[in-house]
Amino acid sequence: MKVDWVIVGAGFTGATLAERIASELNQKVLLIEQRDHIGGNSYDCYNQDGILIHKYGSHTFHTNSHMVWNYLSKFTEWRPYFHHVLAVVDGKKVPVPFNLNSIYALFPPKYAEKLEDLLIQHYGYGVKVPILKLRESASGDLILLAEYIYKKVFYHYTLKHWQLKPDELDPSVTARVPVYISRDNRYFQDTYQGIPKHSYADLFSRMLKHPNISVLLNTDYREVIEDIKFNRMIYTGPIDAFFNYKHGRLPYRSLRFEFETLNQEYYQEAGTINYTNEYEFTRILETKHLTGQISPHTTITTVYPMEDNPNNEPYYPIPRAENRQLYSEYVKEAEQIKDKVLFAGRLADYKYYNMDQAVARALTLYKQIAEKSI
Ligand code: FAD
Ligand code: UDP
Repeated sequence: MKVDWVIVGAGFTGATLAERIASELNQKVLLIEQRDHIGGNSYDCYNQDGILIHKYGSHTFHTNSHMVWNYLSKFTEWRPYFHHVLAVVDGKKVPVPFNLNSIYALFPPKYAEKLEDLLIQHYGYGVKVPILKLRESASGDLILLAEYIYKKVFYHYTLKHWQLKPDELDPSVTARVPVYISRDNRYFQDTYQGIPKHSYADLFSRMLKHPNISVLLNTDYREVIEDIKFNRMIYTGPIDAFFNYKHGRLPYRSLRFEFETLNQEYYQEAGTINYTNEYEFTRILETKHLTGQISPHTTITTVYPMEDNPNNEPYYPIPRAENRQLYSEYVKEAEQIKDKVLFAGRLADYKYYNMDQAVARALTLYKQIAEKSI
């Protein structure tokens, strides 16, 4: 077989690059995916009970990038959806990101009013304050509030998910879910938010429906690469695996998803409920909130954090200095073969990308390829 490009991995990174190269440069692409489906971790499918589920945990699309939104809108219409998350704190379900409504739900009204006034005085209305910053900068009664939120929302959840304390991770991790001095209960405030109207799987199949693209599923690229003639490769799998772990293993966190279909229309009040203090699992997801599917049944997904080991999927790069250091060793290796192989994506860049960031990264790399600057 002879192609211009081999692309390893059919997630958002690989699919975007395959689509751009095939349709804009009119070059032949072979997309190789080890799983039995396209879509990477964003894949969804109907289960045996007829419910559209997100196989690797719920995926809500959100972006401030007009470019990314416009690009993906060529392949899908969108169902408008604003993600809502509740956290169980002191037995009550309160909005996360933790906001003024969460304060009123948890504290007596007079004290909540006082905390609201203090927060607005110190930081301003509509401001997002990462919990680690709030802990440093809070004074007076706000110290108590900061410690309360740290302990009840972040500490145990983070230990469960990462097996690290919040301050042992890059501050950007907990800053993804800042304390929000607002009454806005949405998880994200991005300009563009939604779920692909039919499904992520449909979006991906439209992206890859091009005569210049062939897709090979159920195949680890290492099994077939010797038999393929190609000019260049784009690799979107784990970068340490590509180099056979020669500098050591990059750590990842994994998850186990337990699916259960229930004979009731809805199970919970929101798409995601975080169990920030109790239980071994971190979240229960109910995808029907995202998809808007009408059915007398519902499927819930309980999310259990898992050890990183060779049998588990490497879902999360672990953002912290020592891991960045090890990753930089692999970047040096990648530099030496960049005429032949390019690396991009959540696993190959070892970066905690959201879907829109993976697409933006792929579009930027495509631009460099098209301009022949890489
Ligand atoms: P991936 O989707 O991981 O695709 C990489 C592909 O490469 C995989 O399919 C893998 O099987 C394949 N591969 C690896 N090695 C090989 C090999 N040797 N041979 C062949 N194939 C190989 N983002 C959001 O914006 N919103 C969300 O709500 C959201 N929720 C998430 C929930 C979870 C639990 C997780 C883990 C991630 C979530 N994300 C979310 C992030 C989103 O999944 C990623 O940004 C996106 O999937 C990155 O795309 P990618 O193509 O870089 O990687
Ligand atoms: N986090 C937390 N409690 C919450 C929500 C988030 O401690 O209720 C922390 C936790 O460390 C988590 C990180 O913030 O891993 C990022 O949360 P996000 O919801 O963005 O995680 P993801 O959806 O990527 O798993």
